[in-house]
Amino acid sequence: MKAMLWEGQNRLRMVDMPEPECERNELKIKVHSAGVCTTDAHIIHGTFRNGDPPHVLGHEIAGEVIQTGHAGLESWLGKRVVVETAVGCGVCEHCRSGNKHLCANGGEIGFPPYQGGYAQYLCVPWTCAHVMPVGMTYDEGAILEAVACPMGAIRRIGVAFGETVLVQGAGVAGLSFLQAVRAASAGKVIATVTRESKREQAALSGADVVVNVATEDLRARVLEETGGKGAELSIDAAGAPGTLTDAVTLCAARGRVLLYGLPDERSLPAFPVPEIILRQLTVLGVTNNENVWEPLLAMIARGTVRIRDFVTHRYPLSALREAIEAVSSRPEGFIKAVVHPWE
Ligand SMILES: [Zn+2]
Ligand SMILES: [Zn+2]
Repeated sequence: MKAMLWEGQNRLRMVDMPEPECERNELKIKVHSAGVCTTDAHIIHGTFRNGDPPHVLGHEIAGEVIQTGHAGLESWLGKRVVVETAVGCGVCEHCRSGNKHLCANGGEIGFPPYQGGYAQYLCVPWTCAHVMPVGMTYDEGAILEAVACPMGAIRRIGVAFGETVLVQGAGVAGLSFLQAVRAASAGKVIATVTRESKREQAALSGADVVVNVATEDLRARVLEETGGKGAELSIDAAGAPGTLTDAVTLCAARGRVLLYGLPDERSLPAFPVPEIILRQLTVLGVTNNENVWEPLLAMIARGTVRIRDFVTHRYPLSALREAIEAVSSRPEGFIKAVVHPWE
């Protein structure tokens, strides 16, 4: 089969390699579309480490089940599936409480030792597969992981009826947060963008107020829109030093701060601890997903969550390098890129 092999810093090579064989508990999947994530860009550029090369990366995957590891799994044959990233041991406390992403003995599809989706086939434990609803495209399925993580974060922190919400960042995470809080009965929702072309995307995903931080004073706008109080739920989906601090200082007294955007460890901000204590804020950090795939797929099937427009850039697998560059440089209109291993 064809696969794109990550061989080291900025080194990717298209190779022919043997097709993987199913273990007993696995499904073999013909990959139709694989999402390209910022994490992949960081790994390939050598600015983030999660296992060593050579390896076939790609942790956002949608495809068709073509083979099973044993007869008991045969009902999966021919199913169109999305692949959940987290692989758990299945027996520890976290796995048994639905939090396999916290399993100390688990791993993630697409990171060593688990082969990823930048290939024509891969095998995954059947517990990582979820059937896609009718009408959902493989490209939508391939970006579901990027949507599931913010959705899971909102499921965890909750939104009170009519609560004011600030979402900083309008990438795929920020836009997913906007849709999630809108679906969860938020009141006024304020979004930030850094360029004017993002304003419409943020509004379409549910923002009532969109603030362009390149040209407007965010603090003044948030206070104006919230009657001087700040946002009751303040979400940072950007992970920049300034946005992390703003997430705290623009949160209302007794409000909640949700930190999701992962900051660059080389430029961590001085965190405003006195603000948190004196104004009695609750701060929650969330990454990865929180057992949210099935409810999210149902919401997409019903049209409550719409992600089709999030896929803005499509490439053949052989052009993965270009896709990675798009993820890093974020050209005008970019939200999310996918690669197709059969083109
Ligand atoms: Zn990802
Ligand atoms: Zn476990």
